[in-house]
Amino acid sequence: MRPTAIDTPFFDAPHRELASALDAWAARESANRSHGADVDATCRAWVRSLGEAGFLRHCVPAAHGGATASLESRALCVAREVLAYHDGLADFAFAMQGLGSGAITLAGTEAQRSRWLPDVAGGRAIAAFALSEPGAGSDAAALSTAARRDGAHWVLDGEKTWISNGGIADVYCVFARTGEAPGARGVSAFVVPADAPGLAIAERFEVMAPHPLARLAFEACRLPADALLGVPGEGFKLAMRTLDIFRASVAAAALGFARRALDESASRALGRRMFGGALADLQLTQAALGDLATEVEAAALLTARAAWKRDTGGAAARTTREAAMAKLAATEAAQRAADRAVQLHGGEGVRVGALVERIYREVRALRIYEGATEVQRLIVGRDELARRSAPGGGGPR
Ligand SMILES: Cc1cc2nc3c(=O)[nH]c(=O)nc-3n(C[C@H](O)[C@H](O)[C@H](O)COP(=O)(O)OP(=O)(O)OC[C@H]3O[C@@H](n4cnc5c(N)ncnc54)[C@H](O)[C@@H]3O)c2cc1C
Repeated sequence: MRPTAIDTPFFDAPHRELASALDAWAARESANRSHGADVDATCRAWVRSLGEAGFLRHCVPAAHGGATASLESRALCVAREVLAYHDGLADFAFAMQGLGSGAITLAGTEAQRSRWLPDVAGGRAIAAFALSEPGAGSDAAALSTAARRDGAHWVLDGEKTWISNGGIADVYCVFARTGEAPGARGVSAFVVPADAPGLAIAERFEVMAPHPLARLAFEACRLPADALLGVPGEGFKLAMRTLDIFRASVAAAALGFARRALDESASRALGRRMFGGALADLQLTQAALGDLATEVEAAALLTARAAWKRDTGGAAARTTREAAMAKLAATEAAQRAADRAVQLHGGEGVRVGALVERIYREVRALRIYEGATEVQRLIVGRDELARRSAPGGGGPR
């Protein structure tokens, strides 16, 4: 597959080269893998092979084994659209190496970066991002996991939940309350190796599209002073900066699933005989495919714009609005695409293990994590209002 908007001016030659190389590789690799019960082993294998093939270099900066000087949203988007098209767990494995180590890339000391980033890029270490808690999901600033100084150590107490790669990660970037100020301004970040004393996997979750996920318990989890990541009290800002880099890439993953749903739908429609012709001959089928393709391409353009603006806009560029529109449009379009694909497949569409059945389950969580659909709608809506009350009035910026 070629990423949907790859031939627009938002992308450059290196992105097209990455897309072709990764597509050929992922087509080969996914054909050789089962979607077996052992999701941990499957994820570990994807991380290892993505690392060995050099693709995880797009998840860290060049100074520590990466492909580009700083993380590039467009490369992340290209990689995620291609990988999601071929295999949801391949996309997950790729994305989590970037998201899990993103805070180290952005704010780590030289020692923290050189300890973890080359191994993350090589697929030798698995990374995780631990922000959410049982009482703090969409309202992430309500987190209550506490970190206190104890002589030369930090001590963490509390819980993190819904942590992707929980149970298989080698390193967790953990956000905990250090109390410099109330709310979001009193949070700090920590680099926590999986074998830190006092860190336990309290629960593993099974979800509709299997991924490694866990609840983590911190009970007097003792860390050296140099586990602190970035500036004390600025951990929440660091978490948001990390998520900002990856938000457009969630949209890109959704596009990959949607494109696969479209391709599967079209070939089913062409091949399925009914009423003396093909399913594709029926005008309602043609209209469904027309809607599907249009929605996917519209979302792809929003996604490409968000990633392009982030990459080329300089340090001061704000892409909150663009990334929110992209995630909103692409994840909702992917859900509709998956639903249409199941419908066009008839009974075969709901057979457990059918490709479109897997896509239907796979896209659902994308509308919930990294800012639920409702949150993205609010971001865009409030920005519209703010523009109208700002001097000079509204209109696109
Ligand atoms: C598969 C998966 C992987 C995840 N991986 C990670 C991870 O690696 N690290 C991590 O830290 N977290 C992770 N999460 C957690 C994820 O970030 C949270 O699930 C998400 O923030 C929503 O929080 P919640 O589940 O507590 O839902 P709640 O916060 O209880 O929200 C429930 C629903 O309320 C609605 N809603 C939310 N805000 C508003 C609003 N302002 N107005 C109106 N309605 C609203 C939305 O529909 C939302 O789905 C993951 C979640 C899933 C499902």
